[in-house]
Amino acid sequence: MDIPSLEPIPLQSRLEALIRIPVLRDFIEECYRQILLREVDAPSLRRFSRRLRFLPFFSRRRFIRTLMGSDEHLQVLQHRLTKLEHIRQTVEHQQQALAFQYQQLARAEGAFELQRQVQEKQKIENQAERRHSQAIESLVLSKYEHLLQIDPPATFVSEAYQELLGRPPAKSELESGRTRLEVGVDRLKRDLLRKVLEKCHANSLDATVAHSSFPQPIHDMFRPRPSKGSACRVCEGSLTFKWSLGVLSDKYMADYYECLQCRALQIPHPYWLDEAYESENAACLCNPDTSRFMRNFSTYRYLAALAKAQVFPEQPQFLDFAGGYGLLTQMLHSAGHKAWLTDLYVSTPYFASDRYIRDFQAIPENSFDVITALEVFEHLTEPIQVVERLRRILKPEGTLVISTSIYRPSEHDSNWVYLARPWGQHVTFWSQEALEACAAKTGFRSVGYFPSDEGVLILFSMDSVQHLKDKLAHGLRLLQDIHHFREVICVWDFLTRRCITLLEEPEVREVDIKTAAHEIAA
Ligand SMILES: [Zn+2]
Repeated sequence: MDIPSLEPIPLQSRLEALIRIPVLRDFIEECYRQILLREVDAPSLRRFSRRLRFLPFFSRRRFIRTLMGSDEHLQVLQHRLTKLEHIRQTVEHQQQALAFQYQQLARAEGAFELQRQVQEKQKIENQAERRHSQAIESLVLSKYEHLLQIDPPATFVSEAYQELLGRPPAKSELESGRTRLEVGVDRLKRDLLRKVLEKCHANSLDATVAHSSFPQPIHDMFRPRPSKGSACRVCEGSLTFKWSLGVLSDKYMADYYECLQCRALQIPHPYWLDEAYESENAACLCNPDTSRFMRNFSTYRYLAALAKAQVFPEQPQFLDFAGGYGLLTQMLHSAGHKAWLTDLYVSTPYFASDRYIRDFQAIPENSFDVITALEVFEHLTEPIQVVERLRRILKPEGTLVISTSIYRPSEHDSNWVYLARPWGQHVTFWSQEALEACAAKTGFRSVGYFPSDEGVLILFSMDSVQHLKDKLAHGLRLLQDIHHFREVICVWDFLTRRCITLLEEPEVREVDIKTAAHEIAA
């Protein structure tokens, strides 16, 4: 907004200067200019020249007074006043605008500060929550660890209620606890203990927490001795301490032990798992599983070869256990296979959501010919129970197909990438002996490695060694066969699936830009 300019007011000093102008004509002209803000007109000039020259009482001072007392000067003054008022308004507007801007700024600053405070508060709350849950976790591990050793889910739930609450569980509590636990994941046991503790011991727990040496990090209480009952989770052999390494961005210390018998490398008490799995259901910017697509694609191709080599029966029913986003299930299904998936940590998979079995517990025994568990075994804290459950839902001649990087004690040290320490979810690392011990323990007859002993796919099979060997050899030949490869890939192709006829030659047409522009203009 511009402020209009004002002519200067003729001050006393300037009027005195006017009086001293030597030539009369110049004096009159200049007086008109300065007082009435215009050029003098000829009649006035003549009239006032005459008066100033011939009337003895009409002095230059009087002339100035006459001009200043004239109606015209009054109008000039009024005009000036209007202008002044206009300026005042303009300034006032500018002031208001500035005040408004200032207010906005202050408000934004206030909002920013408020947001900062909310974030700060949220951070403190999260921290408190984490410390609270850590305290419960340490309590579970220190006071109730023996409960975790109880195997039958129903017994576990009953004992837990009896010990923690001094009463047996209600029928519904028993039922809901039991069904959840039958999945055989160790975490679920602790979750249940936590729930019981949190629900009913809220006050006394705080007291217990206050009494314990908290906030001592709980991993300090548990290392590096193998705690009670820490036999190998695969074969129950004794463990020997290997390394203590930071996990989850070195937030916690993990103690790695190796089984003297089956050489499985394992973390006996990964108490940070809840935190490690917290973000599992959300997409994140740096997912550590970058080989996800390649793994699913290769697995699909190898499964197709195995199916053709009759490692599986005709028209096999596939289940992808812990199938995550559902990519493999979608690939199999699109290729005409009967495939489903299930996952404890995914509420709705991105792919094959219509093939998703929400309730793993509800799956009847003897349901599937093939169960795949890709990059799952290294996450298990109680693998035998999980594999036993999978064995039960497999048909009697069914095959369990897994993938995990094989742990070779002579090759792998604490720098092994597959420890995936920043991620904190890998807790069991399988040597070949461990895999075979697990298969034997859960009732399989042979373990096959396909297409190489580097793993990729590891089969727990009901076939005899010789039978499986022959079938896998057939599978390997198929993998090298280009016709088989084409057949496998082409099932996802429009050309093949929809019987599209190829053009005789490529069709390319010129686009007339001028005509197009002309038509638009018209
Ligand atoms: Zn072992």
